[in-house]
Amino acid sequence: MTSVLAPQRLTLDAPLPHLIGGEEVAADRTFAAVEPSTGRTWAEVAAGTAADVDRAVAAAGAAFEQWRTSSLDTRQACLWEVAERLTASAERWPALLATENGRAIREAGLIDVPTAAEIFRFFAGVVRDLHGRSLPCGPGAHVATSPRPLGVVAALVPWNSPLISVAHKLAPALAAGNTVVVKPSELASVSTVELVRMIADVFPPGVVNVVTGLGPEVGQALVAHPDVAKVSFTGGTETGRRILGRLSERLVPALMELGGKGSMVVCPDADLDTVTEDVLTGIFAANGEVCFAASRLLVHRSLHAELLERVCARAERIRVGDALDPQTQLGPLISRAHRDGVAARVAAAVAEGAELCTGARVPDLGADLAGGSYLTPTVLSSPEGTTSASCEEFFGPVLTVEAWDDEDDVVRRANDVAYGLANGVWSTDLARALRIADRLESGMVWVNTWFATPLGQPQGGVRASGFGREGAASTLLEYTSTKVVHASLDSTRPPMWT
Ligand code: NDP
Repeated sequence: MTSVLAPQRLTLDAPLPHLIGGEEVAADRTFAAVEPSTGRTWAEVAAGTAADVDRAVAAAGAAFEQWRTSSLDTRQACLWEVAERLTASAERWPALLATENGRAIREAGLIDVPTAAEIFRFFAGVVRDLHGRSLPCGPGAHVATSPRPLGVVAALVPWNSPLISVAHKLAPALAAGNTVVVKPSELASVSTVELVRMIADVFPPGVVNVVTGLGPEVGQALVAHPDVAKVSFTGGTETGRRILGRLSERLVPALMELGGKGSMVVCPDADLDTVTEDVLTGIFAANGEVCFAASRLLVHRSLHAELLERVCARAERIRVGDALDPQTQLGPLISRAHRDGVAARVAAAVAEGAELCTGARVPDLGADLAGGSYLTPTVLSSPEGTTSASCEEFFGPVLTVEAWDDEDDVVRRANDVAYGLANGVWSTDLARALRIADRLESGMVWVNTWFATPLGQPQGGVRASGFGREGAASTLLEYTSTKVVHASLDSTRPPMWT
């Protein structure tokens, strides 16, 4: 493993403000944004309060009256303009994203920036098809439904893919005619503030607002705000449960994109070259800090030893290092606390009987990176899948390899977790692969691939992975309610009261 120091590290001189009602609002207090590659503070971010949340929700509420009546072509033009600006500024984002959360800069450029732009482009297209239905209820009635925006949407996003996550919330919510208050994660707030700053003049003031700060303060105040009409949350399952508890008091609807524990099921006839590539992508892309990560590899026993050996050999060659180094394939985890937590979970799984085949080391990358939060790619072997590494979400670069003999048994094991976000099957026998795919209980199942999420394909989970779907035309329905107008066209009535 090598590391070269990136030539230029980002440092923001001025504290980042909240963005409320089209204005930049400075805060009395700030908190530090810490670069995971080095552990240094690279920016100061406004520490919001309940009063800031009040102000942002009021601005969004005032803007809603105008935005809800905007024409579909206006909304399309605005969303398209966001995509254009993201694409035009594509070169400035990768360094920011790599600095912010440790995402390898090559991956940020290849995946995060174009995906975020595509999300806005997609909703710029489908918004033109936002329509209700006319129902044929006979000649005596005119009955029509229409999709109505809900009002102020609270968008709570996690730190792991902030640009993509915020795009997944802003684009459909705005397309449907809502206004939004975003609360980014305290661990990755800068990209959200910079994105909304960049598009400040695209939307009328107050349509998009950002309040930064801590989850238990700003997040909680936003969720509890009486004028918030919908909460769109991506984050951990426990946080999601807490938020739903609060929302139940006011019966506020929510979209919940929560955690996952994805299994790759490898059949005896699978093409091992493809599988090996997909395993590396499935668990080590985005440092393994992905809800869709393939953290369990369930291999037919006849291939178990060979695939385990291949995966370990390739994992050991992955270049771990500074997220800003273009050569880096696996950057640091988001924080020291998270890295230590992942390492502790690996140690617990080993104590429960898993074998550590490779990784789980804190690499020596030299003095300049000594403050970073690195962990080498980790592979555990647990043929019978009996440890916590087979059911808990680690949210890091840790793969557990298991063995199976029987199709019914592998389906049962893959489904025997609380989560239900993404699973996959590898087989050259498509009938077999589709049979297994049909039995896997998750919102998404990939066959002979992983992470394939073209826009239009719904993303989301079941069970402890949440509910609601992002990234599809149907996502617009998550941000609307259906209103029906039933007009009587005649005056005949049944003889009820005569
Ligand atoms: P968290 O649940 O800790 O946080 C998510 C967001 O909620 C953050 O903005 C956070 O703010 C905020 N928040 C925290 N506490 C509260 C609260 N009490 N009330 C309101 N808001 C609150 O998740 P992480 O940021 O740690 O992200 C990792 C998790 O997200 C993983 O479990 C992962 O699986 C899941 N995830 C799911 C995805 C999906 O599509 N299903 C995609 C990406 C991640 P702050 O950070 O400031 O505390």
